[in-house]
Amino acid sequence: MSKDYYKTLGLNKNASQEEIKKAFRKLALEHHPDKTGGEDKKFKEINEAYSTLSDSKKRQQYDTFGSAGASQGGGQGYGQGQGFEGFDFSGFAGQGGQNYEFDLGDMFGSFFGGGRGGRGGGQVQQKRGQDITISVQITFKESVLGTDKTIEYNRHKICNTCNGLKGTDLKKCTKCDGVGHITKVQRTILGNIEQRYVCDECDGNGKIPSKKCITCHGAGVLKQKESLTIHIPSGIENGEQLRVASRGEAVAGGTEGNLYIQISIKADPIFRKDRTKVYMTLHIPLSIAIGGGDMKVNSYDQDFTLTIPHGSNTMDVLRVKEKGGFVDAKRRDDMHITLRVDMPKKVGSEVKKIVKDLENLGY
Ligand SMILES: [Zn+2]
Ligand SMILES: [Zn+2]
Repeated sequence: MSKDYYKTLGLNKNASQEEIKKAFRKLALEHHPDKTGGEDKKFKEINEAYSTLSDSKKRQQYDTFGSAGASQGGGQGYGQGQGFEGFDFSGFAGQGGQNYEFDLGDMFGSFFGGGRGGRGGGQVQQKRGQDITISVQITFKESVLGTDKTIEYNRHKICNTCNGLKGTDLKKCTKCDGVGHITKVQRTILGNIEQRYVCDECDGNGKIPSKKCITCHGAGVLKQKESLTIHIPSGIENGEQLRVASRGEAVAGGTEGNLYIQISIKADPIFRKDRTKVYMTLHIPLSIAIGGGDMKVNSYDQDFTLTIPHGSNTMDVLRVKEKGGFVDAKRRDDMHITLRVDMPKKVGSEVKKIVKDLENLGY
């Protein structure tokens, strides 16, 4: 076992979720890098331990195998690295949603004034542009197999003419004396925290233009068309969101918001799915149910022939390999086909004779 997550959080193996949460809160506040005496490395270790132990699935896996990184086993582990850089699953709809970034935003927002916006931007709290949410509808087939979609939308980008400086003939900002930020001391339950804010007069540039930029009229940003090709992974579910970092609104002197792509899947009249597993009901005639035979399946993907074993019954389930979504780059999941025997509605004299024969044979 490479790391002992329990030890990292100062807990024993039987710790309850409540205890884990408590320990994490305490340690994370102690070691938060924005805090005097905070330590980035230690903070990351605490986060790593928490993100595993707070997720019951991951915790179980960790307890069993000593590692929680490769959660591919359940077939729901996509979104972790392979193939779609720049995206991650926010999983608001449920599965896999334990993304500590969100937890931290809530938790530290009140202590550190800016929450996520200031993180990664050094010590200065930065302004952050708004997030944009776009809905994208995909077909059932696309949701099973994954797809690439090019989306077009409008967002504010930094003005190219003034590079976000809002104009020309730049003069030193008097509010921040040209340094671009203002320092404030905040009193918190953790002691005094020195916090630096971007100067709102000059947006952190330290300079103020005397002449407004004519392209953006002094806004520093301009609404422009954005075109992006995004990869929608195999097995995505209705209502889930994909996050594309820094493709939301830009603000002068700040960082860009994120783009969220909300997926809606057109319902299919025949097929249903759960992640990469596909389900359908297949009607078969009585003769095939008794004697067996081949049936053509009109699939959402490619049609195929299915051999029905003799003596099949309604509610029997046949599992067909490699007809579902992609579990990984090469391997596909199964399709589950539930049989339904269609009993004949009209029974003529010929059929009655055959049935009589069957009866005589003891069926
Ligand atoms: Zn401009
Ligand atoms: Zn200033």
